[in-house]
Amino acid sequence: MTREKIHETLSGYDKKDLKIATICSHTALQIFHGARQEGIKTIGICTENRRKVYEAFPLGCPDEFIIVDDLRNIPSDELLEKNALLVPHGSLVEYSGDLSEIKVPMIGNRESLSWEKDREKMFEWLTASGLQVPATNEPDKIDRPCVVKLAGAKGGRGYRVVNSPDEFYEHFEGMNVTVQEYLIGVRVYPHYFYSPLSHEGYRASEGKLELMGIDRRFESNIDEAYRTEKVGLSFTPSFTVVGNELLVVRESLLEEIMKMGKNVTESADRLFGGIPGPFCLETVCDENLQFFAFEVSARIVAGTNIYPLGSPYTAYLYDEPMSMGRRIAREIKLAAKANKWQKIIY
Ligand code: AMP
Repeated sequence: MTREKIHETLSGYDKKDLKIATICSHTALQIFHGARQEGIKTIGICTENRRKVYEAFPLGCPDEFIIVDDLRNIPSDELLEKNALLVPHGSLVEYSGDLSEIKVPMIGNRESLSWEKDREKMFEWLTASGLQVPATNEPDKIDRPCVVKLAGAKGGRGYRVVNSPDEFYEHFEGMNVTVQEYLIGVRVYPHYFYSPLSHEGYRASEGKLELMGIDRRFESNIDEAYRTEKVGLSFTPSFTVVGNELLVVRESLLEEIMKMGKNVTESADRLFGGIPGPFCLETVCDENLQFFAFEVSARIVAGTNIYPLGSPYTAYLYDEPMSMGRRIAREIKLAAKANKWQKIIY
């Protein structure tokens, strides 16, 4: 789907009856809740058995469901008929194969998602942004603790720390993986929103950058390691994400956090035409207060679910409760007002 084709589709939409749609998973409650706060109707793409989960949370429930057998099947024709704008989130990126083929207009630049999906391209993006990144190693050269990441694995599942080539081959022989130096420090995952529509605030690229929140994750079993060790059990660390918690960093770190976000925004412009909307960095801050980035998510992340009514950072940006989901809906309204759809949708 070319940008032109998507904009042609969009020009045929009834702009007074736009709807926000997403797959019922990941950050859907927050996206529907935020859209409701902004007065935009919503569509949840859902399986029958999951529907009751969303109905259990009336303020985060979509206005209507499209029931599918498999969340991998985006019901494009029905969404197009309903003037839907699709919000990509982690599950949509994971389930939907080739995103460039989806006919429904998406919030943001869908091209950025292919840079997130491909680890080599992601590292090219991070390094083009001038960020410090962990060393990546050939298996035969492993001489220190390294995280081995399965290709396409999301949420840390199946990752393992190895200390030597032998240990690597024992577990990952012949598999498609990335080997990354294990970073020591505090995990800091800032969530940003880049708006090309506004020129006030913290300038980045042609618009402004907002720091919406910061999280840290709970990963099983490593984040409860002290308990496991306390009861005298030994275990192999694993990194499967179970949940998120809020993080507020010391204020003097904000300068670097904002700079990293600005750099990522501006290199996105140069590499693939920009990253309007939400994105997130995964970093580790070491004892010298140096940040190392090992991942960028080119869309809303699950860490934003912590603050459906605003975060300790949005409190200084908005005098009303502002979640990332609501911020996305707000941007749609701003684009409508300025007639600048092409800046925020592809
Ligand atoms: P990812 O799939 O890259 O988001 O990684 C999942 C989790 O693995 C992260 O949240 C971290 O806890 C851990 N992790 C990934 N890469 C590294 C690294 N280079 N050093 C230390 N921990 C890491």
